[in-house]
Amino acid sequence: MKLQTLRSALKTARSRITMLPTQRPDVVERKRGSAGVRDRERIRARDCGLCQECKRQGRTTLGHPVDHIVPLWNGGSDDDSNKETLCVPCHDAKTAREARQRARG
Ligand SMILES: [Zn+2]
Repeated sequence: MKLQTLRSALKTARSRITMLPTQRPDVVERKRGSAGVRDRERIRARDCGLCQECKRQGRTTLGHPVDHIVPLWNGGSDDDSNKETLCVPCHDAKTAREARQRARG
């Protein structure tokens, strides 16, 4: 009887451990490897390889990085609609802006 109780207690403890979240469930994991490469190529083709931020400001700049418009850590999705091509300066500026935002919480 006693052993049985101990076993069930152990079982409960174990299932508690496996239930512990290893990461925030609302944060989408960034795609890695070939799937991510294909995604980025598709976005670049859609955006004609041009920086969308520059385009909004009336400039035509060849873009390279594909960026999440709403960052994944901020609840953004990994869908094409949340991605756009940016040039390096725009991407750097956005990343810096987001880093400040993230630091503030
Ligand atoms: Zn740009």
